[in-house]
Amino acid sequence: NQTLKNKRALITGGSRGIGAAIVKRLAREGVHVALTYSNSPDRANEVAKMAQSLGVKAIAIKADSADANAIIAAVEHTVKELGGIDILINNAGVLALGPIDGFSLADFDRTIAVNVRAVFVATQAAVKHMKEGGRIINIGSCNAERMPFSGGGVYAMSKSALVGLVKGLARDLGARAITINNVQPGPIDTEMNPDNSEFAGMLKKQFMALPRYGNADEVAGMVAYLAGPEAAYVTGASLTIDGGFNA
Ligand code: NDP
Repeated sequence: NQTLKNKRALITGGSRGIGAAIVKRLAREGVHVALTYSNSPDRANEVAKMAQSLGVKAIAIKADSADANAIIAAVEHTVKELGGIDILINNAGVLALGPIDGFSLADFDRTIAVNVRAVFVATQAAVKHMKEGGRIINIGSCNAERMPFSGGGVYAMSKSALVGLVKGLARDLGARAITINNVQPGPIDTEMNPDNSEFAGMLKKQFMALPRYGNADEVAGMVAYLAGPEAAYVTGASLTIDGGFNA
């Protein structure tokens, strides 16, 4: 299936986890890719090399999503190196958990900066260059709709902010035939949420319909669907892929 062949995508936070799986999936479909990272240059370059080995252009760009100027520069760099941008995947995200009594303002601000503000900034910069058929896909979370344990209020707030954002921006961008949607994963085995922790055991036992963690490739599959021509009529939506966590 090469319907995405020769499209050009920017994936934020592509050095590991779900972002790296999206980079690989899109590269396999013939998409030229740019990926950002903040702390993992070696791993980001490895992901880019692996994408290149699949026959596409691939570049890794250092850009802390908390820094608006760095994100704008990453979008411009992508356009210059790949010749344009058709797909933006806002994946970079942080998870700070803690009950209200001890939750720091610094963690609150960083969560908003990376999980919410960066999505707005990258989208605004990318749509300047996007043509008809453009795609914006944010990685939200099932926690936008259900947060069944203590300590997750700020993270859930950051992801539910994206639900409203895509509804509104779908209307800004619809006349240009650009779609914008969220993919809302449930627990996925990554460094942010490893499958072998005590927390994972609790989630699987108490909250999952399918009693297992998902893997990043499963999320990448839904992203590839939204990026492709078959999803041209999907916009302003939040698609959940969560093993029944929210069921
Ligand atoms: P990981 O922590 O495994 O990977 C995070 C990725 O984002 C890394 O590539 C990291 O880059 C990058 N990143 C983090 N902060 C920044 C920043 N400030 N600027 C640029 N890049 C940054 O996380 P996941 O793959 O698990 O999560 C990806 C997305 O999926 C997030 O938005 C998360 O909220 C969401 N999600 C994850 C779930 C899960 O269970 N894993 C469930 C639901 C949603 P670097 O290596 O350079 O630090």
